[in-house]
Amino acid sequence: MRNKLADVLIAKGIVDVKVLNAIRNVPRHLFMDSSFEGHAYQDKAFPIAADQTISQPYTVAFQTELLAIEPGHKVLEIGTGSGYQTAILLKLKAKVYTIERQLELFKKTNLFFKKMGYRPKKVIFGDGYKGLPEIAPFDSIIVTAGAPEVPKALMSQLKVGGRLVIPVGAEEQIMTMFIRKSEKEFEKKELGAFRFVPLLEDKN
Ligand code: SAH
Repeated sequence: MRNKLADVLIAKGIVDVKVLNAIRNVPRHLFMDSSFEGHAYQDKAFPIAADQTISQPYTVAFQTELLAIEPGHKVLEIGTGSGYQTAILLKLKAKVYTIERQLELFKKTNLFFKKMGYRPKKVIFGDGYKGLPEIAPFDSIIVTAGAPEVPKALMSQLKVGGRLVIPVGAEEQIMTMFIRKSEKEFEKKELGAFRFVPLLEDKN
């Protein structure tokens, strides 16, 4: 079923062989509630705990492809959710730091990683808007929730040459990639419309 899912993603335009192999390797059904398990290899988002969703496989593959991950890259993920995207990044041999603001999901997914032997460098409970200044700079940063605006902290925590992939917008989001060209310059690319649960900011 995972091979078939990879074929669907190829038909939709995913070309990176390493990303496709990661999709072929990660058992998505284990990241989902048992009531949806039977649908795990459809190319669709599904509900997880705390009113959140596990992203659609195409979206996961698309964002991951844009990150251009090399083994050993230091990657920050905002929105751990089910941990599926995290597991894909780990398959690509990234060193992953991942932040989740829903306590229930943070606890559940952190435990699940341990049980499954997935080893992100750090799973953090907190507000991803602020990034992770103590670990920055990152080779890439991926945001897996819809951001009404691009958090400045995330831009500043990229290495020169690094990439930020973030869906930007309220109702609907435009997948946006920033490549840091120098301390001060960023190249911006807009790559189509998607729908995510919102990136929420903790105001205190
Ligand atoms: N990568 C996840 C996507 C989950 S949906 C997966 O494939 O399962 C997006 C997640 O972002 C949700 O779990 C939501 O709680 C989280 N989120 C929203 N705002 C956030 C913030 N400011 N900081 C960290 N996580 C946030």
